[in-house]
Amino acid sequence: MSGTVWFVGAGPGDPDLITVKGRDLVARAGAILYAGSLVSAAALSWAAPDCVVADSKDMTLEQMSDWLIAHASRCDTVVRLQTGDPGLYGALIELVQPLDAAGVPVQVVPGVSSAMASAAAAVESLTLPEVTQTMIFTRVEGRTPMPDGESLEELAAHHCTLCIFLSITLMGKVTASLRAAGWSEDAPIVVVHKASWPGEEKIVRGTLATIQALCREAKIVSQSMIIASPTLGARHWTTLAKSKLYDASFTHRFRRASVPSAALVADPHASSMKELP
Ligand code: SAH
Repeated sequence: MSGTVWFVGAGPGDPDLITVKGRDLVARAGAILYAGSLVSAAALSWAAPDCVVADSKDMTLEQMSDWLIAHASRCDTVVRLQTGDPGLYGALIELVQPLDAAGVPVQVVPGVSSAMASAAAAVESLTLPEVTQTMIFTRVEGRTPMPDGESLEELAAHHCTLCIFLSITLMGKVTASLRAAGWSEDAPIVVVHKASWPGEEKIVRGTLATIQALCREAKIVSQSMIIASPTLGARHWTTLAKSKLYDASFTHRFRRASVPSAALVADPHASSMKELP
């Protein structure tokens, strides 16, 4: 009988941003393999004194799966602690396959992704009514090739929110792709370095024209989220389409309208009044 290997999202950096479930698993684990270059060591502070802890930063994928399998043969709970959410750019499936082959049970605990933590740090909303209702999580091509149809230029043609991972050293490529997709030079872009890391977070705001130079000046070369979105800066807008859910004239499952609405009566999509947005 083998123990279970839990892939736990440690969150973006602030140790308080691990889930309660993830923290409990860390406390219960007999062995923890953590992504040392990215996961805050503070997340390990909940580990039991006799827990075996190893850093995976110098290991190959095979050494990591061998380590997890070996420890699962002697402990009930083995944790693979990953940055952000384990399902985003985390080699999750490459590690799950050898565990499946070895008959080791696997579970995944989601984590707060750096995309969400970066938006939170900058007090930005990634969706806004009538501005954009869509987010794309992507990266530009580095050593990992992009599949057909997923170049940043093609994705940026949607003019929705783009959360661009793993690309801060390729800022020239990012800005060229946005230009090629027709984004204007004054389109706002925010770069968040080490979002949520206590004392280390940096937020750089600029435009398509300025962001590359601003990041260079701020010496930001790693662990950063690039957010390009027509929603950025909305906190300071004077006109804002409000969410219908909270509109006094809007009736939905949990609340009747308290004022009549000309706009909603005229709305060709009035049937959407029956739904939550
Ligand atoms: N699974 C992770 C992503 C791992 S890929 C997640 O869900 O967040 C590593 C990339 O994530 C980095 O290159 C950077 O783009 C981003 N990243 C990770 N932690 C970050 C942080 N605290 N602040 C900003 N970006 C971060």
